[in-house]
Amino acid sequence: MNKVLLHTCCAPCSSAILEWMLARDIRPVIFYSNPNIDPREEYERRRSECKRYAALCGVAMVEDAYDHAAWLREAAQGREDEPERGARCLACFRYRLLRAARYAAANGFDTLATTLASSRWKNLDQVNAAGAWACSQVEGVSWWDKNWRKDGLQERRNQLIKELNFYNQRYCGCEFSRKYLETKE
Ligand code: SF4
Repeated sequence: MNKVLLHTCCAPCSSAILEWMLARDIRPVIFYSNPNIDPREEYERRRSECKRYAALCGVAMVEDAYDHAAWLREAAQGREDEPERGARCLACFRYRLLRAARYAAANGFDTLATTLASSRWKNLDQVNAAGAWACSQVEGVSWWDKNWRKDGLQERRNQLIKELNFYNQRYCGCEFSRKYLETKE
């Protein structure tokens, strides 16, 4: 049985994936690493929804450090004006998944997956490229590149969001995605 670390961005994106894994006797540990989220209140709101779902499913959740200043410096700087699905997002995925891969390698996990690609707003190829790259930077961790939008998982995700009354955020996470939303309103 593989030991899976599931990098998680939020409860809605985790919902169907976690249920799917548990139904197949795969019990991952959730790794909440999202220093991209701004402001802090939003980060905490999403984190507490993730905790609620993890407790409901009986799985452990590990929280990474929240250092938004480091994320701005190391992932976003110079890419602030990029559109969503552009170079900033690829750097953001690489940043978070590298942290997850390092945690996995240091704690005996052999497989890494993420909930990031479950959203149709994300570029699946970017997420998979970032995940494979992150795993190549450490020893003994394989990237699980399953398409988490198939096999009815997208529909089940939408059902679970309603059933469990999850907070469903309206922007991706960083201040740049929030500003874009504000210009649309
Ligand atoms: S839009 Fe989302 S994926 Fe892209 S940089 Fe911002 S938080 Fe990261």
